[in-house]
Amino acid sequence: MKNKLKIFLFLMLIIGGCKKVTIKSIKKLSPVPVYFISNIDKNPGDGSRTIGQFFYRGTDALQIRIEEHMSVSSKIRCILHEVGHAKCLIEKCECYSNSEEPPREEHAYRYVLIWLLIHQQKDLLIDEMIKLRTTSEDEKLKIHGPAAATVRRSGLWRTCKYFVSGK
Ligand SMILES: [Zn+2]
Ligand SMILES: [Zn+2]
Repeated sequence: MKNKLKIFLFLMLIIGGCKKVTIKSIKKLSPVPVYFISNIDKNPGDGSRTIGQFFYRGTDALQIRIEEHMSVSSKIRCILHEVGHAKCLIEKCECYSNSEEPPREEHAYRYVLIWLLIHQQKDLLIDEMIKLRTTSEDEKLKIHGPAAATVRRSGLWRTCKYFVSGK
């Protein structure tokens, strides 16, 4: 296991890079327009407070809306999460072909972790891991909670842990 992680990290150093990430550079990753909105009030229905949304049905054109009043780290990670959803939809991922929410959230969480790993964004990765831990332990969260818990049991999570702490 340890060797596998080391190989992964080594490959990452070759293909990735650790350039400074900004909100502007993250927005460029999005296949759909990203808008900042103050006080997003839509409730996803599982008790969580919405801070970002990816619109893909109804009359809204494909777009991402992000709560404006957040730290830079939260905004960057939130945009990445919604970009993960957008890519799943556009690439016709199985998570958009059924109505089950947890796999969809799981894919978005994984997208963020993989992106931050490959681009060696240690501080952002630590913030995201703290968020995932809190989310997975919050029993009120019926959609995001189980998705975060599944990600925390994955090999990807162990790789992230190894990257941020070396063990
Ligand atoms: Zn997906
Ligand atoms: Zn989501």
